[in-house]
Amino acid sequence: MYTFADELDQWPAARVLALIEAASPSDVDRALRRRERGPADFAALLSPHAPARFEDLAREAQRLTRKQFGRTISLYAPIYVSNVCGADCTYCGYAVRSGNREKRVTLNPEQMRRECGALAALGFQSVLLLTGEARYAVPVDAIAEAVSVAREFFPSVSIEVYSMDSADYERLCGLGLDGVTIYMETYDREVYGRVHLLGEKANYDYRLDAIERAGRAGARKLNIAVLLGLGDWRVDAFHTALHARYLQRACWQSSIAVSFPRLGHVPDRFHIPRLVSDAEFVQYLLAMRLYLPEAPLVLSTREAPALRDRLVALGITHMSAGSSTRPGGYATHGEDVLQQFALEDHRSPAEVESAIRRAGYDPVWKDFDRAFDTAAAPGGR
Ligand code: SF4
Repeated sequence: MYTFADELDQWPAARVLALIEAASPSDVDRALRRRERGPADFAALLSPHAPARFEDLAREAQRLTRKQFGRTISLYAPIYVSNVCGADCTYCGYAVRSGNREKRVTLNPEQMRRECGALAALGFQSVLLLTGEARYAVPVDAIAEAVSVAREFFPSVSIEVYSMDSADYERLCGLGLDGVTIYMETYDREVYGRVHLLGEKANYDYRLDAIERAGRAGARKLNIAVLLGLGDWRVDAFHTALHARYLQRACWQSSIAVSFPRLGHVPDRFHIPRLVSDAEFVQYLLAMRLYLPEAPLVLSTREAPALRDRLVALGITHMSAGSSTRPGGYATHGEDVLQQFALEDHRSPAEVESAIRRAGYDPVWKDFDRAFDTAAAPGGR
């Protein structure tokens, strides 16, 4: 069977970089004018010549986003179900060898209900459940239970957990799960091996295919990303876009979203190898919007309020708000429980909502109906 790995093989980093380096200002111009953009256009938009056309890129990104999504920003909240992790991803605060000593906990169903109740009271109708990678502490059964509890409170429940087999995804979708998020972190196999030292996540190929398994199993919202700061951002951006296009074909009933996590706060032992500047970050976002006009683009509270507010009008469609990255962080546990990483945007959901309105957009708490519409219209992509 043809998989994304086969497609990735056709685009080694050297070929991607050659395409980006060969792009000229007139290629950027052409990419801006086209109605449908191909890989060469995307490469031009990632090239060092694109920032000179920032105003035009921003205008086009805004036009495309408003045409597809209107003036809306969907809000969601993460719920960390557990911070127990047996993997060793060197950039992560949950890693088993991160050196962090705070408490590791897994929410039981009653605590899950408390967390869900607190978020539902704030207005959230869409949540993302997260765990580390520790099947011994959080087996698929426990994730199934967490999904069932969350579905008592929210119409839209997604997960960001360890990669699973198809049968596990099918089971969770049968319980009402509608979204699966899996970040590849970096498509660069060598860098991937260097930062993923222990656990199932160290298996590059199993992780690469996981999001397609989820889509084929019935997950109607798929979300992919690279962790900006690990590899060459332009090459990783290019491979992310290829992956999204591949998934649009392979899992045509699902909507394919892209997130933009950028490394900021990391454990002491880790040094960010390829820092991505704000200007590069915005260039990547604009290029992605132009390449994938129909894709939800997701921004978390890893980014600072000023940048998040600015990006509302430039292509972002989904934002987390009022987040906590510690299990039980909304209603159950205190600050002695280990968090995955420190956040930049500490505003309450109401404050984020006000900022979105000030930008002339409507915050949307319920995303389910729109996701369903998107999934039902493959021709729309
Ligand atoms: S990124 Fe995920 S799997 Fe890796 S250490 Fe952190 S929680 Fe564990």
